[in-house]
Amino acid sequence: MLDILIKNAAIITMDDSRPVINGGCLGILDGKIGFVCSEHDMPRGGEARRIIDARGNIVMPGLINAHAHTAMCVMRGFADDMRLDKWLFEHIFPVEARLSEQAVCAGVRLGIAEMLASGTTSFSDMYFFEPKAAQIVLETGIRANLCNGVIALDESYEFERDRAITEIKELIANWHNAGNGRIKADASIHGEYTSSPWVWRKLHALAAEHGLVTQLHLSETKKEVDECRIRRGGRTPARAFFDEGIFDTPVLAAHGVWLTDEDMDLLAEKRVSIAHCPVSNLKLASGIAKVRQLLERGVNVCLGTDGCASNNSHDLFEEVKLAALLAKGSTLDPTAVPAYQALRMATVNGARAQGRENEIGMLKSGFDADLIMLDAQKANMRPLYDPVSTAVYSARGSEVRLTMVQGRVLYENGEFTTIDIEKTLRDADELAAPIVQGK
Ligand SMILES: [Zn+2]
Repeated sequence: MLDILIKNAAIITMDDSRPVINGGCLGILDGKIGFVCSEHDMPRGGEARRIIDARGNIVMPGLINAHAHTAMCVMRGFADDMRLDKWLFEHIFPVEARLSEQAVCAGVRLGIAEMLASGTTSFSDMYFFEPKAAQIVLETGIRANLCNGVIALDESYEFERDRAITEIKELIANWHNAGNGRIKADASIHGEYTSSPWVWRKLHALAAEHGLVTQLHLSETKKEVDECRIRRGGRTPARAFFDEGIFDTPVLAAHGVWLTDEDMDLLAEKRVSIAHCPVSNLKLASGIAKVRQLLERGVNVCLGTDGCASNNSHDLFEEVKLAALLAKGSTLDPTAVPAYQALRMATVNGARAQGRENEIGMLKSGFDADLIMLDAQKANMRPLYDPVSTAVYSARGSEVRLTMVQGRVLYENGEFTTIDIEKTLRDADELAAPIVQGK
């Protein structure tokens, strides 16, 4: 007997052999997808412990947020409309220096609640207190790749004593593949401008030894690239990482706004993934990534929200729509990044960037049952000619009615099954907000 049978759905599978099935059904057993097919092709003996009638609704893969600093949602709306250096050095860094473990945990739980309620089922996170974040990921049932971004600015930096390294090693020892594979440890270099090649090489060795993805920030601003060229003999950040062999293990690089043509070729050659963060890049006025050119070169482009201090939302549907629109507006070509390609970025490509391309990102037999159901019976969702178009251009995160990871329902009709939302909101207000405000 199946655990769950979803019937009568408009299913977006993201499987190129059959991307959309109208009047589809989907069977779930032991956390995995048993079958996805048309109603009349449903296997015999389709009894299930629970049947979900999805009539009129869209069922699709859960979205993958490939670049987040989840706990930063406690700084949502705290410092807006400023230049990046002033924002970062005068507002964000001083708050981060004060943030307690309790405050960060409150932020992680708040951020996960927001993600689940808006259709994200997996995220890649770079922050601190990450082993504590792993515990919250385990409890809430979401999926995540976690790391602490290494920053090594001064001469006295000691690799073995660094807190970020200690946390990454703790994640590897205690959390890698925990929660039935839901949690992964990643290695991380915060960015070219915050550490040196000898530190990168040590992190690369760690990633190679344990088979980890490395998360980093890459060419987010023009200033970053200009200063790198001065520091590193005319080379760009991508060239510098490439020369040190950092791209020889899988890398998930955030932003990529100021990549040169040569950089893009290097990324394609080394199969580096770029987490495009359109809202954050616009809000901080960093620029617009050349997404169409990256995709044309075969670079794996996925989507991220970045931290909520520069977004101020974890609703990945905003990024999907904006990725499609910015590609069109910046190239003066409305055929650039069509809806299906934008949705691929938030699903299939995100899975590949996380090293999970055989687990999630598509609704396909044998894949984990990480999926969401959108309410397509609202005025803004009708008529439903093309579910992909509706999901990309009409839906918002608030259309999500149900969110499931590995076959477990985590959010349904406004209710969380693993999160005490009243306590979560209260903790953010009482444990984090006073620290953010310096009270
Ligand atoms: Zn970031």
